[in-house]
Amino acid sequence: MPRTVAVVGAGAAGLVAARELLREGHAVTVFERSARVGGTWAYDPRSDADPLGQLDPAAAAAVHGSLYASLRTNLPRELMGFSGFALAGRVFAGDPRTFPGHREVLAFLRAFAVESGVAGRVRLRAEVVRVGPLAGHGERWTVAWRGEGGVVVVEEVFDAVVVCNGHCTVPLVPKLRGIGNWQGKQMHSHNYRTPEPFQDQTVVVVGLGASGVDIAREISNVAKEVHIASRYTEDRLGKVDNYQNAWLHSEVDCIQDDGQVRFSEGSASIAADTILYCTGYRYHFPFLDVEGVTVDDNRVGPLYKHVFPPKHAPNLSFVGLPVKTIMFQSFELESRWVARALSGRAELPGEEAMAAAVEEDSQRMDAAGKPKRHTHALMPDWVEYMDWVAAQVGEPPMEARRREMYEKALRCIWSLDDSYRDSWEEEEEEENR
Ligand code: FAD
Repeated sequence: MPRTVAVVGAGAAGLVAARELLREGHAVTVFERSARVGGTWAYDPRSDADPLGQLDPAAAAAVHGSLYASLRTNLPRELMGFSGFALAGRVFAGDPRTFPGHREVLAFLRAFAVESGVAGRVRLRAEVVRVGPLAGHGERWTVAWRGEGGVVVVEEVFDAVVVCNGHCTVPLVPKLRGIGNWQGKQMHSHNYRTPEPFQDQTVVVVGLGASGVDIAREISNVAKEVHIASRYTEDRLGKVDNYQNAWLHSEVDCIQDDGQVRFSEGSASIAADTILYCTGYRYHFPFLDVEGVTVDDNRVGPLYKHVFPPKHAPNLSFVGLPVKTIMFQSFELESRWVARALSGRAELPGEEAMAAAVEEDSQRMDAAGKPKRHTHALMPDWVEYMDWVAAQVGEPPMEARRREMYEKALRCIWSLDDSYRDSWEEEEEEENR
């Protein structure tokens, strides 16, 4: 049964959601606040007025993107395509490297939008300001939106809404003990673009995810010293091999009364100029006016398998929340599931059964000691989740080769040795020999 469906956001998730919905015969409208498709991959040299992005959330989101100028993908192109439209084997913006720069991915997404027919369904400069159930028609949805800089808000009614507004925009900043003693600068990686402002500085980088690794390395080329603080470094504390001036520490213990940064491993404290938080992002849905769907300690819930709020399934859904997985593939699988659930070709359990499953998942996480704020981080069960969603739409489990490729990429990132981006192909050949 075809439905009218609004998709919020034309990043990678929104674009592939729209393709899957179109394939399933639905009538799709994609709302995109900016002037272009591609979301995160449209590099924006601007940064927020507040370097920590801790103003009111609407202001913090003024600059959507969090890419730095030098960014190359952290996954090989083979893991960043869609079925029937690969990033591997074709060049989109003159950058054929296995780990291309951001312009290549943006050009790929634009080409995908055009060639899949999605581009014609995208309304650019259309910001969704409210999504809520249509009064008196619990199963239909009102989408209120306005044009760029516009004051006039237009309301339209859809059968369903798929939320794909991205989640790498609003910084998550931990409150360090003693931060009141800090006299230097602070910023979040959301606002990092180039290393020059850190020339000759001593910088403490908090967090060792993919961005933290890249940024610490880049800054170390110009800074006096870089000190990386992470809870995942216990076995590698000390000077980083191959770097002139970078050290790994455990977590920041506190900012001392004298303003120096102390680490929990008990090494000498550091007098630094800047603390740079590479500590991830908050899920944020300022337009959502739906009773019972909340963000609590960075858990979006209640959601059945990260996608459907049981009370509103299948007419309200979220695509793209999980992290620590092959993201483009997970966007596509979730999108297909949503498209088929809407047409009735994929069956969902009833509301109560879905709510019970959400509760069960939450208890399993508690038992495993996984903090609530990591709800959507799929490690270590990422393949289990991907295979589960694949099974809902009749797809086979993930190929072992893709799984191994992803896990190898993660090991490479954490090795802190950037050479993997250029030696990957040779290594693959050697491994296969
Ligand atoms: P986005 O790309 O953020 O798109 C969301 C879209 O929604 C935006 O266009 C935004 O303008 C729009 N929007 C938001 N609110 C509204 C509204 N109210 N109304 C209308 N439109 C709205 N992933 C990888 O697979 N490989 C990598 O190498 C990789 N590197 C990364 C490096 C960095 C620094 C970052 C921040 C992320 C990286 N990622 C990487 C993850 C990346 O976020 C995903 O690949 C993916 O692009 C996210 O797509 P999305 O559609 O969910 O969100």
